[in-house]
Amino acid sequence: MSSLPFRTLAPYLRESFGRPVYRVALDAGSTCPNRDGTKGFGGCHYCDVEGSGTGALAEGSALTRQLEAGIARVRRRDPNPGVIAYFQSYTGTYVDDTRLAETLAVVEPFCPDPVVAVSVATRPDTLPDSALARLSALAQRIPVWVELGLEAADDAILTAINRLHTVEEFLEATRRTRAAGLTTVGHAILGLPGDGRDGARRTAEVLAESGVEGVKVHQMMVLEKTVLATRWRRGEISVLDPETYVSWLADFVERLAPEQVLHRLTGDAPLEKRLAPRWSVHKSEIRERLAAELEGRGTRQGQRHSNAVEG
Ligand code: SF4
Repeated sequence: MSSLPFRTLAPYLRESFGRPVYRVALDAGSTCPNRDGTKGFGGCHYCDVEGSGTGALAEGSALTRQLEAGIARVRRRDPNPGVIAYFQSYTGTYVDDTRLAETLAVVEPFCPDPVVAVSVATRPDTLPDSALARLSALAQRIPVWVELGLEAADDAILTAINRLHTVEEFLEATRRTRAAGLTTVGHAILGLPGDGRDGARRTAEVLAESGVEGVKVHQMMVLEKTVLATRWRRGEISVLDPETYVSWLADFVERLAPEQVLHRLTGDAPLEKRLAPRWSVHKSEIRERLAAELEGRGTRQGQRHSNAVEG
């Protein structure tokens, strides 16, 4: 259907749900093992989620109000929308079983209409069996997506940016989400300090190997109040210019599997928070530039996927 040389989210949503689908972000409050000392302190070096370790969790009733308000907002644009309830707390399953049950129960009255899917963002190392069982039970009713950060497929880089999980932990988490009948979306960042062009390629190869159904990728951004901001101000690190990013992104997309769906191709953050890069990051512009880059190379998504090379 799409003439783009890569697979994007909108056509996938139309095929899957047969109607326009909109994401409603829900803030259940966030806790993070990288900030509360369980794994580490200070957070990932690019992360500006302040107060992640406060444990300030939203009440179920407050979450219901968030969801109702989001649905009402979407219905002003479209009278018959599908909605993806997106628990965007950065480690959405880093809560006890009772709390996760309470959080997921918020969407139940809205399933399967208008809520057609639920998406939960979390870390590979905060996915206990009890959480998988909860998500798997919900997946009997509607699709459940688990968004897992890989970011870079190199343990040394993951240590250097204070991610504090390994590539193998990511792969193991994707094996477990698949076994639980969940859809998995892997996250990647291109241009992390020391990762380079080879790193971008390697990360795509690991995401392809993992078999995740979806991929979100964006350029490294330096946000205020992060460790990266300090290093950037000292001149220790630099960010990608748009031409380099698109070129590395093309390398990345060539190495994914052809069927993997690209949920995101670029990152964005308000200019008042984003120190670098300062270039325009509008997603349609990146999409067009990526299409032109791949067309110029005569390649497309999956062209350098390891299975495709043999074919
Ligand atoms: S990116 Fe996620 S895991 Fe890392 S510090 Fe931020 S909230 Fe925690």
